[in-house]
Amino acid sequence: MNICVFCGSSTGTEPIYQEAARELGSLLGSAQHTLVYGGGNVGLMGIVADATLVAGGKVIGVIPEFLQRREVAHNGITELEVVETMHQRKQRMAELADAFIAMPGGWGTLDELAEILTWRQLGLIQSSIGILNTNSFFDHLLAQMNLMTRYGFLGSGSLEVIKVEQQPRQLLTQLGAFSVQAS
Ligand code: AMP
Repeated sequence: MNICVFCGSSTGTEPIYQEAARELGSLLGSAQHTLVYGGGNVGLMGIVADATLVAGGKVIGVIPEFLQRREVAHNGITELEVVETMHQRKQRMAELADAFIAMPGGWGTLDELAEILTWRQLGLIQSSIGILNTNSFFDHLLAQMNLMTRYGFLGSGSLEVIKVEQQPRQLLTQLGAFSVQAS
């Protein structure tokens, strides 16, 4: 599978976030999945990309030109696609991916997760979407989503499309990433 990961361009203050990024990348690589991500070498982005490569997986980065000029692009990955705008990047990542995972991050991660959930709601994509809730990082956002449902701003089935797990392996299993594993 091609699995797109949205995550922080920072590492976060707690080592647990870096450990989760490393574990997710290792699992992706060892299961021969391809990581699709924002192409950066910084923060959790760099960690998940490096771990995927070390474990033998492919990594496709999609980065806008202006970020590449700031030298935050990862030059050691399998393919780096340079696009013009942030919008083109999200479109391209969505074209490439069979499933999406959001890990802890900041505005960029939130934006990417919200956009992909919107596209799914509108039927523009059919892919599975997962939230890696490391250290309960997304509990407040999940509570907000429940509030949006309770007060009628999200349809009753809206949250059912999102798989939420604390551990990378469990989340990948939920997303069908291990379904063809040899017994
Ligand atoms: P943030 O969560 O605000 O750190 O933003 C991370 C997300 O936005 C990633 O999934 C990237 O696609 C994108 N992004 C933000 N900053 C960068 C950066 N310096 N280099 C590459 N991608 C970035």
